[in-house]
Formats: sequence, structure tokens, C-alpha cells
Amino acid sequence: MTTVYVSGATGFIAQHVVKQLLSKGYKVIGSVRSTEKGDDLVKNFGSDFKYEVVADVGVPGAFDESLKKHPEVSVFLHTASPFHFNAKDVEKDLLLPATEGTKNALKAIKNHGPQIKRVVVTSSYAAVGDASHEEDPNHVNTEESWNEISWEGALKDVRQGYRGSKTFAERAAWQFVKDEKPTFVLSTVNPVLVFGPQAFDSAVKDTLNTSSEVINNFFKLKSSDPVPSANGRFIDVRDVARAHLVAFEKDSAKNQRLVMTAGDFSGQEIADIIHKNFAEASKDVPVGKPGTGPQLRTNMSKSNFSKTENILGFKYIDLEKSVIDSVQQVIKKKA
Ligand code: NAP
Repeated sequence: MTTVYVSGATGFIAQHVVKQLLSKGYKVIGSVRSTEKGDDLVKNFGSDFKYEVVADVGVPGAFDESLKKHPEVSVFLHTASPFHFNAKDVEKDLLLPATEGTKNALKAIKNHGPQIKRVVVTSSYAAVGDASHEEDPNHVNTEESWNEISWEGALKDVRQGYRGSKTFAERAAWQFVKDEKPTFVLSTVNPVLVFGPQAFDSAVKDTLNTSSEVINNFFKLKSSDPVPSANGRFIDVRDVARAHLVAFEKDSAKNQRLVMTAGDFSGQEIADIIHKNFAEASKDVPVGKPGTGPQLRTNMSKSNFSKTENILGFKYIDLEKSVIDSVQQVIKKKA
């Protein structure tokens, strides 16, 4: 029976990871920031889920005690990292918890969890795509691509801050492996913007996690508002969770960056899917210019992540299903 440690178990992605782990028969130790949050998760996950409180991953030694207590853990998935755009101090609120949190996790594994053989860090496409190429349709990103952002560049604003936080944290993880030569093997999962339903209906609140809020926000608009110009790339949370399992289960995922995108989207395409499928609930959602979505995102860089697709070996959920399943849950909660 394999026991998997999941840091940041309350997170949008992490809850799906834990759900899939439990359904495949793994035992799970999750780190959470308070006993209240841990007790809430136990209600949903049941007794194969245990938690440890790690209030701030950025504090030196953050994971030491919980790993000492759990010598049965043989896989560590590090998902905890701040993902929000309301940081007052980019360095303190984003860059340091992300980078120090990752280093603290890896140090704790090396020093107190020598039996841990596989480690997966949840990184991001933010650590892959460099801003200088993002609007160049002739540029192709692959698993070898890196965001070249500097620490100073990341301090410019919260969005650059988040992109920097993921880049520096992932670089720190690979550097740790190079310098320390630990006995564990590292893999990273680098998703683009993650859509899809919350793991449990009870997790639906007025304001959702940063990426889910992109879709939730459509239901906070007036029909006279412009359609949000939210161009980007998406992947469904259930696929991202599945990739975290493949990342430690398959040998071919060892030492790999698994960079995941299911395709590009524009705000108009999200609006079109909402109107087509939710006539009643979408009365206040702006209509925009239906059908024009693909033309609004022609200046985006391209990608070739076929190496990742070959390792993962499953087909990604498409935009329509991801949006429908997200919206259905939000509407159910409002009813
Ligand atoms: P989320 O719901 O906001 O989850 C973030 C998790 O990290 C929560 O469990 C949070 O705990 C925890 N956390 C944040 N700062 C912490 C700190 N200083 N100390 C302890 N715990 C801390 O976001 P998510 O979308 O699931 O993101 C999970 C991971 O995926 C992150 O590493 C994120 O960068 C990455 N990612 C997300 C997306 C996306 O579009 N969602 C895309 C690419 C990569 P609390 O809940 O208690 O605050």
C-alpha cells in the first residue's frame, strides 16, 4: 500500500489529485494550513486521508516534523504555492513562499524521508513560456522552453510576480537535484490555465480559486458588459490531477517536465459555450460576437508538447466539456 504526501491539499488541483489517489487505493497524507481546513477535507475524503498542519510552506523546516512522523510516505507531490493576483508585496507574498516552499519540501525529503523515491512538483506553463514570445505565432514552445524572467522583472507587478514565482521555484527544484543528488527522482507537471469543476460541490463559493474564477466571473457580469478578453490556453483539472499520478507511476516520466495544454481559448468562445448550453442561466452573460472567438487569438505562440502527451497516454478533456462541467456546478450551487 503506497502512501502519498500531497502538500497544499486544500487547493483546487490538489483536491482532485487526492480524490484520484484515494480512488486508486493509495493512502494520502495532506498538508493543510489549519486543523479546520484539515477536518473539512476529512469529511469529504474519509479515513484513508490524514492531514498534517503546515501553516506556511515558506518557513525554514516547514515539512520536517510531518515527514518525521510519516516514514510510510514513499511519494511526495508538492502542489502548495500561492496562486492569486492580490499580493501586496510580490516578493514576500509570491516569490518567497513559492521558491522557499519548494526548497523546504525537497530538503525535508532528503533529510527526513530517505525512503521517498518519487517527487512531483506542480510547476506551470508560466515557467515555460517567455513573455517575449507569447504573442509571436511563429514561436513554438516545447518541454525544453523556459521563461527567462529575472527576479527584478518579476517584481514589476503581480502577474509577472506569479509567473516568476513558478519559474524560480521550478528552477530551484531542478537545481536541488543537480547539486544534492538525492535518492528521489523528480518530475514536474506544468499546466496552462486550469478549468473544470471543483472536486466537491461543497467547495463552490462566491469567489473561486484564480483559474476557476475566469469562468465563474462570466456570471458576475451584466449583459451590457463587454465579453472578457481572456485569451489563453486551458487544460481540465481532472487531466492535471491524472498527470500527477502518471508522473510518479510511470518510469518514462522520471526527470521530465510534463507540460499540459488542451488548446487555446478566447473569452468569446467561453461565452458561446455558456449561451449554447445554459439558455436560462446565461441571461445576464454578455453575448459579444458569437463565432468570432478563434479570430481573437491568432497572435498566440504555438506549442509542441507531444513528448508529454506520449508519456501521459490519454486524451485531454476539451473546452466545451470543461466549461459545461464548471458552469453546471456553479449553477447548481446558486439554485
Ligand atoms: P489554489 O486552489 O489556490 O491552491 C493553492 C494551495 O497552496 C492551497 O492549498 C493553499 O492553501 C496552498 N498555499 C498557498 N500558499 C501557501 C503557503 N505560504 N503555505 C502553505 N500553503 C500555501 O490553486 P491551484 O490552482 O489549485 O494551484 C495549485 C498549484 O498548481 C500551484 O502550485 C499553482 O501555481 C499550480 N498551477 C495552477 C494553475 C491553475 O490554473 N489553477 C496552472 C498552473 C499551475 P490555502 O487553501 O489554505 O490557502
